[in-house]
Amino acid sequence: MSRPVVNFGRNLRFTPRRLYAPGTERELLDVLERHRDGQVRVVGAGHSWSRAIESGDALVDMRRFGHVRIHRGEGGASVTVGAGCRIKHLLAALNAQGLTLPSVGLITEQTVAGAISTGTHGSGRHSLSHYVASLRIAGYGEGGERAEVREVSGGAELRAARCGLGCLGVIVDLTLPCVPQYRVRESSMPCDTVEEVLALRERAPLQQFYLIPQLWGYYAQNRAVSDGAGTSLSAPLYRLYWLLNIDVGLHVGVKLFAAVLRSPRLVRFLYRRILPAMIFPRWVVTDRSDRMLVMEHELFRHLEMEVFVPESRLAAAAEYVKEVLQAADGSRGELSGAFRRDLADEGLLGALERVRGTYLHHYPICFRRVLADDTLISMSAGTDEAWYAISLITYVEPREPFYGVARFLAASMARLFGARLHWGKWFPLGAAEVREAYPGLDEFREVCAQFDPRGVFRNAYVTEVLGLPAPAESLEAV
Ligand SMILES: Cc1cc2nc3c(=O)[nH]c(=O)nc-3n(C[C@H](O)[C@H](O)[C@H](O)COP(=O)(O)OP(=O)(O)OC[C@H]3O[C@@H](n4cnc5c(N)ncnc54)[C@H](O)[C@@H]3O)c2cc1C
Repeated sequence: MSRPVVNFGRNLRFTPRRLYAPGTERELLDVLERHRDGQVRVVGAGHSWSRAIESGDALVDMRRFGHVRIHRGEGGASVTVGAGCRIKHLLAALNAQGLTLPSVGLITEQTVAGAISTGTHGSGRHSLSHYVASLRIAGYGEGGERAEVREVSGGAELRAARCGLGCLGVIVDLTLPCVPQYRVRESSMPCDTVEEVLALRERAPLQQFYLIPQLWGYYAQNRAVSDGAGTSLSAPLYRLYWLLNIDVGLHVGVKLFAAVLRSPRLVRFLYRRILPAMIFPRWVVTDRSDRMLVMEHELFRHLEMEVFVPESRLAAAAEYVKEVLQAADGSRGELSGAFRRDLADEGLLGALERVRGTYLHHYPICFRRVLADDTLISMSAGTDEAWYAISLITYVEPREPFYGVARFLAASMARLFGARLHWGKWFPLGAAEVREAYPGLDEFREVCAQFDPRGVFRNAYVTEVLGLPAPAESLEAV
């Protein structure tokens, strides 16, 4: 037995039978040979809240595969990077060459393979998975017998491997295109409605925005690629302001008022009085992309669920989330007529009543736009239209009241809005809701069966949510 493994959110704890950190491909293949009749899962930085990394048998940590090799060709620059390289180390190596990634999320602590395997995204671009040009994956060859590394660079295999939840095997390294380093211009302003926010997007395609709980108004963080190469003189001051006021100050306030004092009045005071005074709409700042697009969101432990809705349903979905959270904190009676009717049609009114008055939402709800991905099952795959990711975060423990409301939102939004959940975040949906939502799922399963006929790379989470045959069933089929 090895030591227990605990994820970032501390909502997942398990003890794999063996924990490996191979340093060479030969060592990795030996691990696979040894566990070919068992189970093998990979852990990246452990930043997922879903049960994606869980293994009762072998858990592989690829941290020693951190190489970064930059290539420059006629078609532009690309980088081949070891699976266990942290995004922050990759960004630093690229920046030293005047390059960066086509897309980054809010933090850079994740490993590259971990980030792409769950469809990690920022705002205004595709998820990072979409851009993956090729991968090298360690798995079992024909018939699932001998361990070997295979290259994946096209077709359904590539589209599956770009966001594969560890189901195809162990990613050894992967190649991504790079873009020249660029600057981002940012300003923040309050808005009353989603329509007002979206009207600003044309001039700020990398925009993300927040629904502020208890104020129930919006803040748009308007971001655009800057034409020039210059950085604002006030950029260092702006970074310090973000660090002290938002990354630390806001979070200390949330922790203190919501988690320690548990005071709805103080949470309301935070969002109605203090936060508005901390935002300066006239402050327009330009800085390097990998500084501007990220924040120190990992400083305070929390748990997140993220719901994706098609762009065409955004306004209704935003209103729905607001009304449900208001019902949950007891500040609202009935939901609007149309929502009430839809919930009644789906037989969900009783479920709403069960969460009424049980939970006070205490963290800004972030909305990010993710372009349609060319993958089989990342959250914005399989459609032409873009998707909006709506993030629900809690800093309060015990988390049961949040779980109740989040579970209700996930289930009802799957039915009402065709919503999908981020694979790496808290994941309360089952196979039925997932099957409905992903047109590429059958093809994904076929690729899994081909790469891993014995089901060695499956755990209960992927078996359950992706509807894959459990390992024992796979063995019968071989
Ligand atoms: C504070 C915080 C902020 C976040 N911000 C964002 C954000 O802005 N946008 C966003 O989309 N997500 C965000 N996330 C979620 C995070 O990006 C994903 O959960 C990501 O998958 C975590 O990467 P990881 O390296 O920790 O991988 P893990 O959580 O360790 O693993 C994730 C999955 O990848 C698989 N995996 C890892 N390495 C390999 C490999 N070598 N081969 C095969 N499979 C592998 C694992 O088996 C598992 O299925 C955030 C998470 C946290 C904690």
